[in-house]
Amino acid sequence: MAPGPVAAHDVVIVGGGGAGLRAAIAIAESDPSLSIAIVSKVYPMRSHTVSAEGGAAAVAGDDDTFDEHAYDTVSGSDWLCDQDAVEAFVVEARREMLQLEHWGCPWSRRDDGRIAVRAFGGMKKKRTWFAADKTGFHLLHTLFQTALSYSELVRYDEWFATKLLVDDGKVRGVVAIELATGRTETILAKSVIVCTGGCGRVFPFTTNAAIKTGDGMALAYRAGAALKDMEFVQYHPTGLPFTGILITEATRAEGGWLLNKDGYRYLQDYDLGKPTQEPVLRSMELGPRDRLSQAFVHELEKGRTVETPSGPVVHLDLRHLGEDLINLKLPFVRELCTNYQNIDPVHELIPVRPVVHYMMGGIHTDINGYTGMPGLYAAGEVACVSINGANRLGSNSLPELLVFGARAGAAAAEYVHTQGSSGPGSATAAVEAQGRDEQQRLERELAARQEPSKYRIADIRVAMQDTMEAGAGIYRDEASMRTAADRLKELREQFGHAGIDDHSRTFNTDLIASLELDGMLDVAECIVASALRREESRGAHQRTDYPKRDDERYLAHSVVNLDSDGPRVSYQPVTITRWPPAERVYGR
Ligand SMILES: Cc1cc2nc3c(=O)[nH]c(=O)nc-3n(C[C@H](O)[C@H](O)[C@H](O)COP(=O)(O)OP(=O)(O)OC[C@H]3O[C@@H](n4cnc5c(N)ncnc54)[C@H](O)[C@@H]3O)c2cc1C
Repeated sequence: MAPGPVAAHDVVIVGGGGAGLRAAIAIAESDPSLSIAIVSKVYPMRSHTVSAEGGAAAVAGDDDTFDEHAYDTVSGSDWLCDQDAVEAFVVEARREMLQLEHWGCPWSRRDDGRIAVRAFGGMKKKRTWFAADKTGFHLLHTLFQTALSYSELVRYDEWFATKLLVDDGKVRGVVAIELATGRTETILAKSVIVCTGGCGRVFPFTTNAAIKTGDGMALAYRAGAALKDMEFVQYHPTGLPFTGILITEATRAEGGWLLNKDGYRYLQDYDLGKPTQEPVLRSMELGPRDRLSQAFVHELEKGRTVETPSGPVVHLDLRHLGEDLINLKLPFVRELCTNYQNIDPVHELIPVRPVVHYMMGGIHTDINGYTGMPGLYAAGEVACVSINGANRLGSNSLPELLVFGARAGAAAAEYVHTQGSSGPGSATAAVEAQGRDEQQRLERELAARQEPSKYRIADIRVAMQDTMEAGAGIYRDEASMRTAADRLKELREQFGHAGIDDHSRTFNTDLIASLELDGMLDVAECIVASALRREESRGAHQRTDYPKRDDERYLAHSVVNLDSDGPRVSYQPVTITRWPPAERVYGR
């Protein structure tokens, strides 16, 4: 599976996580004669999908319906999703989950052998399939081992994509760096699918792996594609305070409680229902993530959080669940708490705080992953279809990777067939020139950044993250965002002069960090520009200066394009099929 000397394929997929692998399998299944490449900056099994814990939502039993899953998703999104996408999603999610079962995914089961499902935030029925609390590991492994059976798949493991090649408005391939050698290569294709995941690392406290730097969003944006709904950044209410490591929502689905500094289950004060002793659906700890994260901020303001060296926290209490249940259903949570927080949740309270977890926004696509730029598709967290609108429901993302990864793969394969039959992508003069230019740019980048400089990549990254938390965090307003926008401009200026310490070509992680920061500064700018324009509060976008949802003006997707002077924001209608906008009600 090593790349051949001629870098040309029918389809190049950037990203070897859940969405990328599912897309690859869909292409191989639709036409085994197509040559498919997966370019991934890490070995595919190290993609962030591997760390998903809680589960994947799909209608499982007779007591649930597609319409109920769709309605929970629409209402969870604060009506900003596209309902045609959601309707397709709920039906195909179930099909995909069964398909995974047939490919060997070891779903946890009930005593009678049926698939086990657990409750999840904002879902009014139990429909989250899981494999203990290591769902992402098993899901990704299943996809990876299935992908390995297709010999037409060429993998570029540990290659970093730096640019999309575009000729005459059509995407024609990528330029990528082989990390082991520093060699850059133009990889031609008739079609490219971007599956590079989210960009949580734009913020300081996040559950996201260090690799989640939004590279694909920046690549597409610079190539001329639009980013959609970028202002909607999901905070997960329960991350470990210092590391940001996720303590899965499954802890609360199994009956965990959130307590403030007085040991009080404070969520009962936030219109999310009343406390129950047993884990039941609609229990207030299973409210949606946006509401729970906002409740934390109010507890902080009331002085009811606990101060720690890593900032304010509340407590997650699992002690009443007992050791047996924790070992059976939440073994990974116990492992994480022991290894990273030095506490045992069987006997001790877990300190938690809201941490950035997921991007609802991303590269604009239609329901088949098409971005509107001929040849360019996107799927997974990097894309915005949109089924998530202003707030994603936990456990909808893994099935989203499967459903829209498969759709994007099929659509890209179909597109390839419309592009002539003369083998893999070939270079036009313009594409060759762009490839050469990019290679020269990267050489210059390596040389110029070795000049002595007072600006360091790591310092600018930390400053960007702090700027985003302060200016565009759980609550925002015009003043905080204007300050953030100005500060990002300054940081962009400093970035232009920043130096790196590693001068070698072999695994030059310093250079890669600099390229990642370059992209993150663009993504951060898009988040702030989109958030500034939306003068309302909806889902994860809460403005203290515009506290109400405003359907008259903003029942619309924001779309941001790169103009000569920076991001330009416009709006596109939301697709409503069957569920007109209504109030989001939980706990009643
Ligand atoms: C800790 C955690 C737990 C989660 N738990 C759940 C859960 O229980 N249920 C749920 O539904 N969702 C969960 N989510 C969300 C979900 O896991 C992610 O949204 C999803 O896995 C993203 O998959 P992806 O395929 O889009 O991207 P990823 O899995 O992030 O893969 C991205 C790929 O892109 C590649 N890449 C990126 N940039 C480049 C580049 N420049 N060049 C080359 N390759 C590149 C990477 O190497 C990687 O292979 C969780 C997320 C986190 C962080």
